[in-house]
Amino acid sequence: MSVSTQFRHIQEEVEHVERACGRREGSVQVIAVSKTVGAEEVSEAIEAGARDFGENRPDELVRKATLFPEVRWHFIGNIQSRRIPDIVSHAYLIHSLHTLRHAEKIDHAAADLGKVQDVLIEVNVSGEESKSGVAPAEALGLVQACAALPHVRVRGLMTMAPQGDLEVAQKCFDDLASLREEIASKLDAEHASSFDQLSAGMSEDWKSAIAAGSTMVRIGRAIFSASF
Ligand SMILES: *Cc1c(COP(=O)(O)O)cnc(C)c1O
Repeated sequence: MSVSTQFRHIQEEVEHVERACGRREGSVQVIAVSKTVGAEEVSEAIEAGARDFGENRPDELVRKATLFPEVRWHFIGNIQSRRIPDIVSHAYLIHSLHTLRHAEKIDHAAADLGKVQDVLIEVNVSGEESKSGVAPAEALGLVQACAALPHVRVRGLMTMAPQGDLEVAQKCFDDLASLREEIASKLDAEHASSFDQLSAGMSEDWKSAIAAGSTMVRIGRAIFSASF
């Protein structure tokens, strides 16, 4: 199947699962994770209707965002201090913030560009050592510390579930959703109202994530790999 067929198929399935879970129509955004493909595939996905793309390496983010400025580019990868100006120049949303030191650098870079950078806090819900992200118990503190930075706006939480067991993934997504609610209840009204996003779910587990309340599913292989 072609990229455009696979994208349309995923988009339809997402709308179907939204309805099945009683979610509002259009409440779940598909982020096409294009990290393994080139410009041609991105172009095909755009023609099929994709408007949000995810990249995990700064070089590729810069390259593709420059080629396709008409769509939104999400940064979903490991943040390195020296690449923060490049990331902030091109990212619509950074999903993978988990240290205050990086938040402060993002704040500076965004101030230089005259923008407010939207970010999500990555949480290591599963506690797997191989996963990055702040521990759930530390998430509120980081969100509150970021609230003091004028050029950073925390829009919600992101996680990656362990692969291979949908029940474990479901628990992870449910825990992330509860954590978002708990944190929102402790923020002032202004910060709470924009703390409304959950980035959770990938090619293998996105249905469980939507059931738990995810607002952004990050899908790579199911769109771009012919063999998925
Ligand atoms: C690669 C990647 C994805 C997409 O994974 P698939 O299993 O290919 O859908 C989602 N999120 C992050 C952070 C990734 O690095």
